[in-house]
Amino acid sequence: MIIVMKPMSADSEVDKIIDQVEAQGLKTHLSHGEQVTIIGVVGDKSKLDVPRIESSPFVEKVVAITESYKLSNRKFHPEPTSFAVGNTSIGSDNMTIMAGPCAVETEEQLLTIAAAVKASGATILRGGAYKPRTSPYSFQGLEEEGLKYMKTAADETGLATICEVTSAHAVESAVKYVSMLQIGARNMQNFELLKEVGKAGLPVLLKRGLAATIDEWLNAAEYIISSGNPNVALCERGIRTFETATRNTLDLSAVCVLKEKSHLPVIVDPSHATGVRSLVEPLAKAGIACGADGLMIEVHNDPAHALSDGPQSLNFEQFDAVMQNIRPYISLSKRSMQ
Ligand code: PEP
Ligand code: MN
Repeated sequence: MIIVMKPMSADSEVDKIIDQVEAQGLKTHLSHGEQVTIIGVVGDKSKLDVPRIESSPFVEKVVAITESYKLSNRKFHPEPTSFAVGNTSIGSDNMTIMAGPCAVETEEQLLTIAAAVKASGATILRGGAYKPRTSPYSFQGLEEEGLKYMKTAADETGLATICEVTSAHAVESAVKYVSMLQIGARNMQNFELLKEVGKAGLPVLLKRGLAATIDEWLNAAEYIISSGNPNVALCERGIRTFETATRNTLDLSAVCVLKEKSHLPVIVDPSHATGVRSLVEPLAKAGIACGADGLMIEVHNDPAHALSDGPQSLNFEQFDAVMQNIRPYISLSKRSMQ
């Protein structure tokens, strides 16, 4: 349920309504727009005396929210969310480019890639230290050692960093070394892990589950936000369909649907969505055209010998070309890379 205040209501009037709601044991979330203030109400609404609230001369209307997700809902929070990540940010007018290897392999590899992606304009270095691989015999990641290399790369380049976390133990380690945590597709509905990253104090990139609906995805975001962390970005990375020409099917309509339904920033990952290097650029452009706030792209110094996701990884020249070629699309979207 949301309570829409009349335009220009004084803060003292807003506070009075909040006190009334909280006196019933319900929680409130305040959203201050340019014109209107919205009070979001979470909890057992049957306790709420709606006619009394509506009778306030400062209340415009009380609206029921039918969706199960509230804090990630645009009705609750009409202004788009943006937040800082290290020296950069996600949301607002920024087009945030995250790039780097699927997996951190060696310190030298990571430092070389960090320098290259920075030179081409990326502001967040990605690199997996805990790899959720389909086969237990595939490279599983360097774990804490890999996180240390991420920290060294951040210190050397000034780039912000993002790393996937696959367990509560990984969260505990990662918060010491990186600027942002990633929840991978396979863990989108690992609710205990979502609560952990909700308490971790770093921004979170929540990737869409392999077969998750948008509703399930926004409920997963709700777990993180309701655990205390409002700095969540959603990452469309393709979903499972009958199509086999690409690794997954990039659901571009999801980007537009999310923009309508939620205030959270949306990142498009054309690398995992397609699994095909040559498709990264066209789908990066399409993602930007659909309103994405950023891109996540896998880049490797030697894709043919990458320990994971080589076929979708770009080499440095290819990444640089993509960065040049997406610039007109970024300008058209009225954003800039900062
Ligand atoms: C990754 O980012 O390397 C990754 C494993 O992605 P996803 O969870 O989208 O498969
Ligand atoms: Mn990968």
